[in-house]
Amino acid sequence: MRKLATIRKIDAVLKHPNADRLEIYVVDGWKVIDMKGRYQVGDIVIYCEIDSFLPVREEFEFLRKSSFKRMAGKEGFRLRTIRLRGELSQGLLIAKEVLPSDFTWKELGEEVTEVLGIEKYERPIPASLAGIAKGDFPGFLRKTDEERIQNLPYDELKNYTYTVTEKLDGSSWTAYVRDGVVGVCSRNLELVEDEKNSLWNIFRQYELEEKLMALDKNIALQGELIGGKIQGNPYKMNNFDVRIFKIWDIDASTYLSIEEMTTLSATLGLKTVPILETGVQLPETVEEALAYADGTSQLFETCREGLVLYAEDTERVHFKIISNEFLENEK
Ligand code: AMP
Ligand code: MN
Repeated sequence: MRKLATIRKIDAVLKHPNADRLEIYVVDGWKVIDMKGRYQVGDIVIYCEIDSFLPVREEFEFLRKSSFKRMAGKEGFRLRTIRLRGELSQGLLIAKEVLPSDFTWKELGEEVTEVLGIEKYERPIPASLAGIAKGDFPGFLRKTDEERIQNLPYDELKNYTYTVTEKLDGSSWTAYVRDGVVGVCSRNLELVEDEKNSLWNIFRQYELEEKLMALDKNIALQGELIGGKIQGNPYKMNNFDVRIFKIWDIDASTYLSIEEMTTLSATLGLKTVPILETGVQLPETVEEALAYADGTSQLFETCREGLVLYAEDTERVHFKIISNEFLENEK
């Protein structure tokens, strides 16, 4: 699960080029603009990532004007990417004094999301995507979540060489076959087969039951369902489609290589996500990596959501770089 609110340290304080009363505070790969002098380098603070949905509380009332939202009937404040006097600001710093008095933090990176009553902001999901839960996400599969580059030790990431894929803005889709049984899952759940469900529909449209059974292997295809009303249909597609980004070998508990994934997807009549480059080395700074993520989608003339990078040397290392240009335009 994504850690939305964590204990962090102010790594640097930068001058705001266009505002005397503001400063840019750096925590790990993130930059947050706040009043000048509020924090010093080395201060311990709470950092709330973008997409945090903060509860209505006196301390957060200053957010009402910019960030008030309702989520499933509940009121709160949603943090998003903004620009203040021309400079990007992402997330919120809060003094650790807002923590309950009986709570003592132990280490940097410690999560305080729940203690503060913070949740992840989620846009309402169309009924055709939500589906009916059959159960939890199967334990023999891996969820498709990706960590943000800003939360990872950038200098370590620079040790690898990457395959770069476009991150598509749709809905997570997993289909598996295991010992002659097939299943379809959304991001966090396995779904009951149902005619109204878009994730199951694409499975049937590509006749995957027959095709997967014929492989005589236990595997899971993982991709992004796009089109329809998903995320406002940024790629302006008339129909639904799925683009594969990973194939999991259930018995070996490993992912297929990108080449194997591409070949097997083609055999099944499926397309993969756009594979933009291979053999890529990361640039010097995380800022440059973020700028690299800005660009036009391969699917349609629109800002792409970002990139997902896969280390070619090890399957352990993979992460997303969300384009700041995309985030700024997000509703
Ligand atoms: P997020 O949508 O920000 O939660 O990021 C993680 C999700 O990105 C995964 O769960 C996938 O559904 C989705 N995704 C879209 N494109 C890709 C890609 N090229 N590689 C991996 N995941 C992707
Ligand atoms: Mn997504």
